[in-house]
Amino acid sequence: MPCSSLADTASRTRRAAASAPNTSTLAAKLARLGLTAAELPFHLPLRYEDETRITPVAAAISGQAAQFEVEVRDCEIAFRPRRQLICHVADATGELALRFLNFYPNQQKLLSPGARLRVFGEPRGGFFGNELIHPRFRRLEGDEPLPERLTPVYPTTAGLGQGTLRRLVQKEMAQADLADTLPEALRQRFALAELAPSLEALHQPPPVAGLDELDRVLAPAWRRIRFDELLAQQLSLRQAYAARRARGAAPLPASGRLTDGLLRHLPFTLTGAQRRAWQEIAADLAQPHPMQRLLQGDVGSGKTIVAALAMLQAADSGYQAALMAPTEILAEQHYRKLAAWLEPLGLPVAWLTGSLRKSEKAAMAGRIASGETLLAVGTHALIEDEITFARLGLSIVDEQHRFGVRQRLALKQKAVAPHQLTMSATPIPRTLAMSYYADLDVSVLDELPPGRTPVLTKLVGEGRRAEVVARVRAACGEGRQVYWVCPLIEESETLQLKTAEETYDHLRTELPELRTGLVHGRLRPEEKAAVMDAFLRNEIQVLVATTVIEVGVDVPNASLMIIEHAERFGLSQLHQLRGRVGRGSAESVCILLYARPLSATARQRLKIIYENTDGFEIARQDLALRGPGEFIGSRQSGMPLLRYAQLDDSALVEAARAAADVLLRDHPAQAVRHIRRWLKGAEEYLKA
Ligand code: ADP
Ligand code: MG
Repeated sequence: MPCSSLADTASRTRRAAASAPNTSTLAAKLARLGLTAAELPFHLPLRYEDETRITPVAAAISGQAAQFEVEVRDCEIAFRPRRQLICHVADATGELALRFLNFYPNQQKLLSPGARLRVFGEPRGGFFGNELIHPRFRRLEGDEPLPERLTPVYPTTAGLGQGTLRRLVQKEMAQADLADTLPEALRQRFALAELAPSLEALHQPPPVAGLDELDRVLAPAWRRIRFDELLAQQLSLRQAYAARRARGAAPLPASGRLTDGLLRHLPFTLTGAQRRAWQEIAADLAQPHPMQRLLQGDVGSGKTIVAALAMLQAADSGYQAALMAPTEILAEQHYRKLAAWLEPLGLPVAWLTGSLRKSEKAAMAGRIASGETLLAVGTHALIEDEITFARLGLSIVDEQHRFGVRQRLALKQKAVAPHQLTMSATPIPRTLAMSYYADLDVSVLDELPPGRTPVLTKLVGEGRRAEVVARVRAACGEGRQVYWVCPLIEESETLQLKTAEETYDHLRTELPELRTGLVHGRLRPEEKAAVMDAFLRNEIQVLVATTVIEVGVDVPNASLMIIEHAERFGLSQLHQLRGRVGRGSAESVCILLYARPLSATARQRLKIIYENTDGFEIARQDLALRGPGEFIGSRQSGMPLLRYAQLDDSALVEAARAAADVLLRDHPAQAVRHIRRWLKGAEEYLKA
């Protein structure tokens, strides 16, 4: 055993006093780490400390942890101003001070003058020369060899010292079943190290020249661990997928009767991407098991028409279809589009939101419950308790990640295994799609409808606001319309509203000749709808808005967008907002007004949005900037995040995916063991 820390000494003393080790508190502490003792072999070090050699005191470098072998000169309790223990030590080359703010009397005894110590800590240049604050130390009796291996440092929790944790890990390593779940052939195929030796190397690295060499030596072991973690994720997602597929659903075959009618009446023809996505969806719907598909397409790629076609296919078989959107504005836009497309075909569309009057709502609910209306559009009001569908066959959710977790659960429970389509304009980088979304089939709209002009993005400092206002005037003078997006104030909705109102007042004073409107989240839904309507009809030329306009809003005549305090917005938000312009034939511009000082990440974000228009590329860089945890947002609830694997290694994700196929097909028992080892009860959630 290497050095012991004061905390270790203390806990040993306390434990010795009790008649037996207090295993229940130990279990509780491990639980705080999300672990049971048996899982400790997979609890891997964060880093390592090098106690295999001694640094001469004179060679101490401030801020660089090292081990020293010294003799105690003197040790005293001082008040500076707090009570503390200060111990002066030295070797042949120089002197050091050890400083302890918390200490026990017996520790003071251990540090008696003349005692020889091994001390590990991070030197800091203090007023009295180099000092180590709360170093780990142990007293040397006679000649003791240096440890041959580096010392692992684990993630831990209060009250669980590194020394204790190290001993526990070693104990469990000796007892655990670390049999490889990977058949030899797979291990060879993906050039993977064996599991047990990998774990041993990570917990107790072999002797190496230094920490730099260590990275290289441990690389194969880490690769194996990351692979295993990704494999567990792939396996459990596949299992969930298979379980859902095993359930039945009414097949909704494609007769083409209604869908062909719609396609004939459209003022445009589908893009190649839309046609492909539509074919994939049509084939899924014809199956006797539930569709679980994600339709992914950048803002403006034309997802709505694909949704409408799917709804028609359900209606063609006499089944109902519901389309839900997370906001009233968006739901209303969907409703208008669908009604315009479908009502000429003799298909009424029901419309349901929380803001309908009670009597209207009851009437809509009645039509839905009787099956008189096959198609319904709305907000989450559609999944409220009092709404029952006569024969719901398909539910479509737009921008699902914007719904709350509870609403999504309600959505799942609403109907017995209907076909489900989710739509998202948040492009999911390939590695994320392969991992966190591996339980969904995915259709991608990777092509924008023709005739779009790319949006020109400009970064403008706040000081040049007057120029920007002049641009607004000029754009409106040419008959164009403008969005002015107010700063996001995350801490306070009230404050955000206040800012929006102020901006609105300002702009009306600055541009008295223009018709200006204001829309924000606190307006009543019918007020919001009235403002949006006026904007759509060009009765409002400049729309001052909060982020309520972020998704879905479609006003082709708007060709200029100003985003104030752009540095406060996230990348996907900026991309979504910018997607509101560039929808018509006019050259469109998005001006990002920013205020200094810019944080390093804010600067990075602005650079990315300035340099890129492709949503996938922006998402990829966003993922690199933020990591997957934040990226996948609420989908992560209940879904274990990867502890060791990084999604930037797409080759490894790919390998894990291929291995999952082989394992499930040829070694199902090993697959089950592998999931158990890594995911405990988590796979239950995935089946839900
Ligand atoms: P999003 O994918 O962002 O939801 P929408 O469905 O709102 O995109 O479509 C954006 C705009 O493009 C709409 O005005 C829509 O009518 C139009 N559109 C969709 N598909 C085509 C197409 N193939 N050709 C021309 N315009 C299209
Ligand atoms: Mg949309």
